[in-house]
Amino acid sequence: MFEDETIDVACPQCGYKNSILVRELEESAETHFVCRKCQAGVRIEADEFKHRLDQVLKEVEDLEREAARDAKRPARRPRKGDFQI
Ligand SMILES: [Zn+2]
Repeated sequence: MFEDETIDVACPQCGYKNSILVRELEESAETHFVCRKCQAGVRIEADEFKHRLDQVLKEVEDLEREAARDAKRPARRPRKGDFQI
């Protein structure tokens, strides 16, 4: 499920966001990848990644919560005119 998700990891050299599979990051204590833009070798340590993953998971949860809330909310919203006295 979440293992097939990708995470954006910004290259420390050029800032390009590389999509890395979460599964790859979880498999080892550190992951190496090559930046697609500047070809710099980037190393991600699992500890650092865990922190990022927590952030991403929280963001996903927030988005899901927002989506659920929006779905429940009636499409019809009060118009400005409704509040005129
Ligand atoms: Zn780069």
